[in-house]
Amino acid sequence: MPEIVQEISCPDCGGPLKVKPGDAIVTCEYCSSDVNLAVGSKYFLKHSIVPPKFDEKAIDELINSWMGRGFLKPGDLARRYRVLSKELQILPLFIVHASVKSDFQGQFTRTGQPIDKSGVLEKQYYWKVLGRRASAFPTREYEVPLSGKTDFNMSKLVPGAKFLNSEIDEKEANDLAGQQLKEHQKFLLEREMDIIQKLDTAVEIIDTEFLHVSAWFITYQYRGKVYELILDACTGEDIKAEIPQIEKRGLKRLFGG
Ligand SMILES: [Zn+2]
Repeated sequence: MPEIVQEISCPDCGGPLKVKPGDAIVTCEYCSSDVNLAVGSKYFLKHSIVPPKFDEKAIDELINSWMGRGFLKPGDLARRYRVLSKELQILPLFIVHASVKSDFQGQFTRTGQPIDKSGVLEKQYYWKVLGRRASAFPTREYEVPLSGKTDFNMSKLVPGAKFLNSEIDEKEANDLAGQQLKEHQKFLLEREMDIIQKLDTAVEIIDTEFLHVSAWFITYQYRGKVYELILDACTGEDIKAEIPQIEKRGLKRLFGG
């Protein structure tokens, strides 16, 4: 297996750990322990999972019902689509609970007369950071199905699922959340002000949760074009959906235009 670059044993059960290039936290497939490779010891972060409910068999039915659902899809989509690829991924995700405080000073000039604005914007966040550096997964828009969440255990996976270790550890997840939260607070303030003269944002990390979530990554073809679909493997809901445009003729039929 050329993918596996290191031979490391699990500090808990002694089983061989499957380590891939770029992995930071490796989960033992035998005892479900997490190992931080940088430290080389067991990782004690609380680990949860939203396990998949839709396995290989159930997903075909789900895709089929998705194709035929909703009136903004072409009427012949359910008959003409063809699945090109589908993969069930178990993705690492951090949820960073943080308290963020921004001291700001600026001006609102939109209406002509400049109005001075200053104050403190203080908010609590449960900010999501994906544990993979390159993924088409839309982390910001994704809602963790909390009702499906349970303690992590490898036995919760279904056959054929692709389990992905985290490529970042807790510290990096917190740092990334901090940077993104500063940007986000700035974005919120820019809606209220046209000129920002002063902005000091302090991020306090309260705690960090580590979990794995389940998603089906699907590509399908329709009338010669390829589209992407990501379905929540726990709830079956859309996470990301590319839908073919209805042709003008079809729209006229629908709306009588
Ligand atoms: Zn182990």
